[in-house]
Amino acid sequence: MHKKPLFLLIGTSLLVPVAALLLAQDSRQKPQAQKTLDIYFLDTEGGQSTLFASPSGESLLMDTGTKDGAGQQVDRIMAAIKEAGIQQLDYVIVSHYHGDHVGNAAELANRLPIRHFFDHGPFTVELQPNRAAAFNSYLTVRERARATVPKPGDKIPVAGLDVEVVSSAGQLLTSPVAAAPGAGVPNPACREASDKVQDPTPENYESVGIVVQYGRFRFLDLADLTWNQEEKLVCPNNLLGTFDVYHTTRHGTDWAGSPPLVHGARARVAVMNNGAKKGGTLDSWRIIHGTPGFEDLWQEHYSELVDKEHNPPENFLANLNETDHGYTLKMSVRSDGSFTMKNERNGFTKDYPAAKGAALTSNR
Ligand SMILES: [Zn+2]
Repeated sequence: MHKKPLFLLIGTSLLVPVAALLLAQDSRQKPQAQKTLDIYFLDTEGGQSTLFASPSGESLLMDTGTKDGAGQQVDRIMAAIKEAGIQQLDYVIVSHYHGDHVGNAAELANRLPIRHFFDHGPFTVELQPNRAAAFNSYLTVRERARATVPKPGDKIPVAGLDVEVVSSAGQLLTSPVAAAPGAGVPNPACREASDKVQDPTPENYESVGIVVQYGRFRFLDLADLTWNQEEKLVCPNNLLGTFDVYHTTRHGTDWAGSPPLVHGARARVAVMNNGAKKGGTLDSWRIIHGTPGFEDLWQEHYSELVDKEHNPPENFLANLNETDHGYTLKMSVRSDGSFTMKNERNGFTKDYPAAKGAALTSNR
């Protein structure tokens, strides 16, 4: 048997550990990019459509925007779905049956598989001729689909995320969200509570609202729930806890976004699904900016209801109206609670480090 010279044996045996060491060093220098929860805030011109792409690969779409003649809004949703690499929508929440939320549900079901709908039930309290079309088109799809009417406290089982329903079909959560920071304790912002007269569009009252948690990151989205209902969720005790991001209730109009909710939620970032002339009111601006520890408001549109001073700087505006429509805000969230927001109109990004002292302790 041929024997290798001794120096060659030493040489090859050394090669492996040296190569392994180099590789280890290399991977230390360039850590694998952590998978993020990506949230796409789509421009639906004052409606709502928010896509959650979980690190697990599963997806959740909160509302479907308005059906427009040219299909621009559904195309925007499909573009985000494509960018996220999603083949099917695992869960779609239709928060309620106003046209700016249910509008493209039927068309989306034509374009890709939808595994599971969640909504407030196969009825609507509003069937005026000008409001029934979107609901009726969805009803046809809903009859053939898997659809669940959740109760407050139920989970939407998106793999990798904790999604809890806190309002549905006029019912509200009555006990604190489990293991949520700041949940279940008296809310000092209830000093600012005041009732408002219920507006004459009772569908909003039925809205499915959710709390999304990914690791230490917490996100609040109550769709179009009403002012008085918001206050019941956080007064006298805050049942929802504190948040990193508040998605404005009812587009940043004066019908919702009450001080006890917004200030009790203590989100450092707010995202407003307003339109050029819908939402983004002076009062909503003031209430949001009065949040303790508040950092930034991002808006889908420049609000033409107020002056420039009461709009965010241009980098924080997805669409400037005269020149732009359809641009998306994209948030990439890491499990330590840090996140990055990107304005897809101009590529501007801002990093938000993990909140200090965030703890997943329950106050129950
Ligand atoms: Zn709406």
